Amino acid sequence: CGIVGILGSEPVADRLVEALRRLEYRGYDSAGVATLEGMAIARRRAEGKLHNLAKRLVEEPLEGTIGIGHTRWATHGAPTESNAHPHATDAVAVVHNGIIENFRALLADLAQDGYLPQTQTDTEVVALWVTRELARGATPEQAVANTLEHLHGAFALALMFHDHPGLLIAARRGAPLAVGYGENEIYLGSDAMALAPFTARLSYLEDGDWAIITHDGVIIRDASGEVVKRPVETSQASA
Ligand code: GLU
Repeated sequence: CGIVGILGSEPVADRLVEALRRLEYRGYDSAGVATLEGMAIARRRAEGKLHNLAKRLVEEPLEGTIGIGHTRWATHGAPTESNAHPHATDAVAVVHNGIIENFRALLADLAQDGYLPQTQTDTEVVALWVTRELARGATPEQAVANTLEHLHGAFALALMFHDHPGLLIAARRGAPLAVGYGENEIYLGSDAMALAPFTARLSYLEDGDWAIITHDGVIIRDASGEVVKRPVETSQASA
């Protein structure tokens, strides 16, 4: 299971799949990518091997220059296409590794406001919670901060926002995540291996960190919301 993301200057779908291939060694049962296509979040997902996802992308290509991708090792919900990540609403798309332990309680809360899940996953609650926060007027950053406060469990997350085509937000709690720095692009990956084709310059998020990624740069905050600096290292992983 793995997470990748690209805030790019060129189309990202094929490169997301390339990065996911480098995380195959972790094992997975399904995979998917999402990009921002003009005015909508567009997804392609497939059961089984990345080959199946790559085939879907040949049949129906994605053009977006910002995107997130995922290989899933199902913990909640069967390894079907509809349970495959990214999970999305009209407002946000999310990929997630790990487990949201209290997702049932959070879903019950969301249901009172009419936010109902379409899948069996624990992950979808993140998309729904962020969407409700945005609908209440929160900025993406505020919406994610609020969501993180409510989540119990160990996870890594990456999120992309319909109304903010130049923004990725990522969070790490108990599952690794690295931010990679390119020329005009910024990358996200579960490890340095995933990002090796694109860049060797990266920062590892520390536990509890979350990162706000735009074309202006990367702001990393710790669990208390404080802005922190994480060293930029040169990875030895070979492309
Ligand atoms: N718990 C999530 C799911 O079952 C994420 C699993 C993973 O780490 O890939 O969809």
